[in-house]
Amino acid sequence: MSAILAVLVICVAIYASISATFSHEAEDRQLRSALLVTSDLEELLRLHVAANTDFLNGVGKAGYGSWGWPVRRATAVAKTYDRLLDELANFRDASEKMHQLRRLSAIWPEQLDAAARNLALADTNARSVQPASLQQANRTLGSIMVLLAQVSADQRERIARMQFASQDQLVRQRISLAVASAVGVLLLLFALSMRQRAALAKVASTIAATEAQRRFQEYFERHPVAMLIFDVNSFEILTANAAAQRQYGCELRAASIDQLRPAADVDDFRRDLQRYVASGDSGGLGGVRRHKHADGTVFYVDITYHFLDFAGRDACFVTAHNVTAHEAAKKALRLRSRALEASRNAVVISSREEGDSVVTYVNAAFARTTGRSVDEATGASHWEMIGCDPASPDVRSIDESLNAGRACSGLFRSHRCDGSEYWIELNASPVFGDGDQPTHFVTVFSDVSERIRYQDQLRIQAYEDALTHLPNRLGLKARLGDLVKHAADQGTTLALVFLDIDNFKEINDTLGHTAGDEVLCEVARRLSMTVSSAELVVRYAGDEFVAVLHGRGDADSLVAAADEMKNALNVGFCVGDALVVPQASVGIAVYPDHSTDPETLLGYADAAMYQAKSTGPNSLQLFNPEIASRSTKRALMAQALRRAISSDEISVVYQPRVNSITGRTIGFEALARWCDPEQGFVSPSLFIPLAEETGSIVSIGERVLEQACRQTAIWAQEYPDLVVSVNVSPVQFERSDLPFVIAETIKRTGVCAHNLELEITEGVLMAPRSLATLRALRELGLSIAIDDFGSGYSSLSYIRTFMADRLKLDMSFVRGIGCSRADEVIVRAVIALGKTLGMRVVAEGVETPEQLEFLVDNGCDEVQGFWFAPPSEAVTARSYLRGEHAACMKR
Ligand code: C2E
Ligand code: CA
Ligand code: CA
Repeated sequence: MSAILAVLVICVAIYASISATFSHEAEDRQLRSALLVTSDLEELLRLHVAANTDFLNGVGKAGYGSWGWPVRRATAVAKTYDRLLDELANFRDASEKMHQLRRLSAIWPEQLDAAARNLALADTNARSVQPASLQQANRTLGSIMVLLAQVSADQRERIARMQFASQDQLVRQRISLAVASAVGVLLLLFALSMRQRAALAKVASTIAATEAQRRFQEYFERHPVAMLIFDVNSFEILTANAAAQRQYGCELRAASIDQLRPAADVDDFRRDLQRYVASGDSGGLGGVRRHKHADGTVFYVDITYHFLDFAGRDACFVTAHNVTAHEAAKKALRLRSRALEASRNAVVISSREEGDSVVTYVNAAFARTTGRSVDEATGASHWEMIGCDPASPDVRSIDESLNAGRACSGLFRSHRCDGSEYWIELNASPVFGDGDQPTHFVTVFSDVSERIRYQDQLRIQAYEDALTHLPNRLGLKARLGDLVKHAADQGTTLALVFLDIDNFKEINDTLGHTAGDEVLCEVARRLSMTVSSAELVVRYAGDEFVAVLHGRGDADSLVAAADEMKNALNVGFCVGDALVVPQASVGIAVYPDHSTDPETLLGYADAAMYQAKSTGPNSLQLFNPEIASRSTKRALMAQALRRAISSDEISVVYQPRVNSITGRTIGFEALARWCDPEQGFVSPSLFIPLAEETGSIVSIGERVLEQACRQTAIWAQEYPDLVVSVNVSPVQFERSDLPFVIAETIKRTGVCAHNLELEITEGVLMAPRSLATLRALRELGLSIAIDDFGSGYSSLSYIRTFMADRLKLDMSFVRGIGCSRADEVIVRAVIALGKTLGMRVVAEGVETPEQLEFLVDNGCDEVQGFWFAPPSEAVTARSYLRGEHAACMKR
């Protein structure tokens, strides 16, 4: 309305002005020019106003081009400017303003175009309306209008001045016209501005509404999260997006919202919905709920809701984000977390922070194990909480492994909260984030102090002799290498001293094992007294001791020290009522004189000790090369003997035992024979002691027994009273279950037990538990002979307790018959003893008729020796049974 009014005012003013101008055209050329300028200014004003109107009409319509500024209008404007610049060329100020105006008029159409394009884009590309370009164009138009008004005012002032005198009336008219024009222009500008704003707001709101609608549709339909809208009164689903259809696996529109959840959850849902509605809130979070697929599969959704008006209905807009995987992960995490808490091992999770590891989690077992609370540990330094020194090499090596991404483990001495020390066994593993560097470490550990204590105990037991508390053979082995290496590093000598107690067996046998133990302890104590703390004394085995001496100078000094040790033992002491004087055979090997190898040195000291023993008790021998060769020979023989046993090269010969009255062969002694392919015949007095040392006597004994039993079974068919005796070594008593082995052999070979006799030495009788074994053997029905009687240490009380069937008089006494009164006395005494105790006496090694006569005259029951027959093979031996050698009885 105001725009129309303004246009009218301007039109009237223009009309008045033009008519006035024409009616007075002769008046003044200058005046005409001024009026022309004014007219052109008004033309410019008109052209701009028209352009703006066209722009507003065209804006918002599709295909908008240059509606506001067509070529025709642009040409008119250009021509008007040309005229005005020409007319105002003499007026500097006005001319400048015209140039300024021309520039603005050139920019303005471009700004209008830009604004039109933006609006068009906003419409088609869903971008927001940008009124900035419109405002810019509006500001430029404003500037044009203001400038035009200023120039017009100047021109009007000019005209007024020119006509003031003569044409007062006209001037007033013109002034009123000018005022009217100015008012009109201002009104027009205001109107334009208002109209433009209104038009823009309308366009913008239309665009926004359409856009919002379009965007919502797109957002709703394409959104990956399930969304639906349902009627809060009827529970009918009004619309649902594609993601919802997929999530629930069915057509949702018009279905009931209830069917989206398990039947058991429907009541809860309705109650909650009522609560949400009643709260008056426009929306909120519904939390995690159980929903179900059309096929019945239950899954978890995280719900948000928003109440709205949908097509005139009270509706609720719902998003249902499927969080089943997340819920499952949460469940698994909860389970893992509970498992960690339930673990009996302490668990620490730490994160890497600026080169240090900081505890982020500890379980309950950690608190129990270390005494440190969960709160104290969380955020604290990893190793400090575990109780280990991070600077220690072991801990540093664990850190290095972890940093390199490797799992590792170790045994550590650790400290509890209260400072007490304990052992932990620790396993640590790196945990990787997305990159290839570990972000966390998991450390699992447990208190293993008890186990370590037990292992220490076992180690001590394994390396220490329980009786003397000296290191044992293993203890020596563990330390000898280091001691030899130390001597090598220092360039000094070292001696291995091997001591074997000479009379220990006698002490043990006569005084008993408790006394024997006492002697061993005393020997250990005395030997320990003679060495320095850097040296070593070891109970090597039974009655064998080894000392390692060093730092005493050359070999001679070492030998002197070993001699001192031997002498220290020779001082008598009381064991119970008895006085015991320990004696030892001593062998010495010196590093580096004899060898640089610890094992070899030990072997040499042992060989030297054997050599010493062979020269008599209480002697000392320094190792030399001959001993080595002897000991090598022994070793070779032992090897050959083992081979002979395994290839069944041990045979048996039989020496007859003759009744001294009838002269008939009443039995045999079975004796082992070994003929080595290389060494030839080897005497039993050589290989039997060796076999006893190496333990292979057990196999030899069993083989001899087996062969003898088979042979006896054959002979017994013809000579049922025949008794064949088999030698049994004390080692067999110690190392095998003799009664069982013999019973089995008897069974296997079919021999009658009463045809079998076992020869045992007096030493066996003394050994612990031997009486029980002998009784068991007796129960098998076989007989027992005491071999080499008189050469050992058996006491008569033992003989009395164990009633043997035969006493075999040692051949050393038989040898003395005719040349030693003492031996003859002993022979008579033994025969008398046998008679008194009801045992048959057998004299061994009868070589001469004189010996035989003495024995027969003194009532000896049986005889055996080369005078009758040497040990011979079974075939030959059989001939003796037929009494072919009875003639030997006659002189
Ligand atoms: P031994 O048990 O005292 O056996 C008697 C030894 O005296 C045999 O020696 C025998 O050949 C020898 N001998 C017999 N009559 C005479 C004689 O008139 N003069 C002389 N100087 N010697 C005679 P051999 O066979 O050399 O056996 C030596 C020792 O080896 C045996 O002594 C026995 O202790 C042991 N031995 C032999 N065979 C076995 C066996 O199978 N088992 C065990 N444990 N020891 C055996
Ligand atoms: Ca014998
Ligand atoms: Ca004998």
